[in-house]
Amino acid sequence: MFGSHLSIAGGLENALTAAGDLACDCVQVFTRNQRRWSNPPITDDEVRRWTAGLAALGWNRGGPPRIVSHNSYLVNLAAPSGETRRRSIVAQRQELERCERLGIERCVIHPGAHLGDAPKAGTPHDLERPPSRDERRGLDRIVKALDRIHRELVGYRVVTLLETTTGSGSNLGWNFSHLAAIREAVAEPDRIGFCFDTCHVTAAGWDMTTPARARAVLERFDETCGLDRIGAFHMNDSKGAVGSRLDRHAHIGEGTCGSSCFGAICRDPRFADIPKILETAKETGPDGVPWDTINLERLRAFASRGRPAAPITPKTRRGRSSGGDSTEDRPSKVRRRTSTATAARATQKRSRDR
Ligand SMILES: [Zn+2]
Ligand SMILES: [Zn+2]
Repeated sequence: MFGSHLSIAGGLENALTAAGDLACDCVQVFTRNQRRWSNPPITDDEVRRWTAGLAALGWNRGGPPRIVSHNSYLVNLAAPSGETRRRSIVAQRQELERCERLGIERCVIHPGAHLGDAPKAGTPHDLERPPSRDERRGLDRIVKALDRIHRELVGYRVVTLLETTTGSGSNLGWNFSHLAAIREAVAEPDRIGFCFDTCHVTAAGWDMTTPARARAVLERFDETCGLDRIGAFHMNDSKGAVGSRLDRHAHIGEGTCGSSCFGAICRDPRFADIPKILETAKETGPDGVPWDTINLERLRAFASRGRPAAPITPKTRRGRSSGGDSTEDRPSKVRRRTSTATAARATQKRSRDR
């Protein structure tokens, strides 16, 4: 399932209309103004219009969840006690209440920042080191916050998805072990799942730039967290280098994640029914085509190809940004130009298939 984070400006249901226009299979929304702490509760009328929007798309007939909510970036459940912590717990509880009213079954949050000692910006993470004392304290505070929220909201269907992060500043979640530790420690682990963001994972230092490396990272995630607990993917390429800890999203194929990263996720049948959401810039691309359309097309091409895709060469990227022939830039053509080991493997596989 492929979709995009879409705007609710003018009404929640507008995101659904836009999802239909873009031929999305799924969508992510902020159910509220994400820049404010407090928001008015959802009205009956909003629920009615939302439900009608779902029906118009045929998304009200059961099946795997297609809607993902993303909570405000202000929320920090790892914050030490004080105003931020108090407000964060209220905001997360209210977001789950909004999700439940709208029938949204998945709510993504960033785990939070412990606000203690953190590595200097620009220093890469040591992915093998155990959590520091400040990190352990932050993880513990997240667990306590989630337990409290879960105790207050008995019987809710919505699952909170902890997102992988780049680990800028003192943010937790750059190491898969952080996410696993939270889920293992909460009293109701079934209410916790994960969101895998390709940009964040790459910028955190998990290198997925070759098919073997992409496989190894997914295996590592499986051992640590469980791939079956991923409730959503964020499909973003990364402007920052592998390990840069920069959280800057690039269009698919235009960054440092590598086509093997997207290929490994998009063509894996285990993830077929998991929402894969673009969080890339809403710009107009070459020939006036919205970048969301181009990015969705690229992701779907990875899915339908069924074998590792070749890297998109820098030469192709230049051609595209200068407004070159866009069909020439499609990944399906690009992959024929490569001379890497990926192509050799693809050729071997093709001859095996015959
Ligand atoms: Zn994300
Ligand atoms: Zn991001």
